[in-house]
Amino acid sequence: MKIGFIGLGNMGLPMAENLHSAGHEVIGFDIKENIKSNLSILNKIKNVVRDKQVIFTMLPSGDEVKEVYQQIMPLVTKGSIVVDCSTIDVESAHYAGNLAKKSKLLTLDAPVSGGVIGAQEGTLTFMVGGDEEGFMTVKPLFDVMGKKTVYCGSSGSGQAAKICNNMILGISMIGVCEAFVLADKIGLDRRKMFEVSSSSSGQCWSLSTYCPAPGVGPKAPSDNQYEPGFAAELMLKDLLLAQGAAEQVNAHTPLGKHASIIYQDLLKNGGLGKDFSFVLPFFKNKKRT
Ligand code: NAD
Repeated sequence: MKIGFIGLGNMGLPMAENLHSAGHEVIGFDIKENIKSNLSILNKIKNVVRDKQVIFTMLPSGDEVKEVYQQIMPLVTKGSIVVDCSTIDVESAHYAGNLAKKSKLLTLDAPVSGGVIGAQEGTLTFMVGGDEEGFMTVKPLFDVMGKKTVYCGSSGSGQAAKICNNMILGISMIGVCEAFVLADKIGLDRRKMFEVSSSSSGQCWSLSTYCPAPGVGPKAPSDNQYEPGFAAELMLKDLLLAQGAAEQVNAHTPLGKHASIIYQDLLKNGGLGKDFSFVLPFFKNKKRT
């Protein structure tokens, strides 16, 4: 297929390269210059979107997505499908979807889970909202970049799935870190706590697969001085998106709200640039309040 790819950062570049390696004709664009890649990267956005069957965007936030959609809508060839893979607020996803609809284009919001390694290895999970007809056409491309794709429903549903999932993740990571801090203080060996909880009712991904305690469980960012992984600031971004959505629809999410406060505190106190599992050393040094 002929593909335009806008936003060649940590995630977008390896995703675009995987599509290229699978034999698709991919042209990339980013406002950043001198990106090293075997992709063809042009410096005018209009040449990247013209005559393409599918156009992907992978941008930092809703503001950039709205800006790029406003810019490209008059330039996109009729019949193209526009797919945003960024993690953005549900409102911006609706805005982008409506802009595309006005231009009579099919559109999808398709945020991902799996991080930079998932993007590099082509093992991402895609959560997709928008036109089902467009989804069927783009599905083979999701299959190149990922290992699992779920069609979640109408426009904005992919973003809704992403923020709900990451709210669970943020809360569960904090819960696991609290349990390790308590185990330490009581004098319970971390390995024993892991052995018990990873095969008991406390089992969850944050404990069993991504253990925040170094030297315990499978290899994770905690074993590498908490180098991300999934950065604490990105976790805060997703928790705040979830809180924004909860406010709009009047949903009661007390733990999600508290998790966002804890990550704000973490980022102000040494957590910037660290993995989101850095909550464990952060809590370990705190006194009970
Ligand atoms: P990044 O900052 O590395 O990449 C974003 C790219 O967009 C940059 O290269 C930037 O120059 C480019 N850009 C910004 N404005 C632009 C514009 N107007 N036109 C063209 N290019 C523009 O970010 P990333 O880590 O690749 O993340 C991208 C998205 O994926 C974010 O929404 C993030 O929340 C989400 N995400 C990231 C991860 C992760 O682990 N990094 C995991 C899941 C989802």
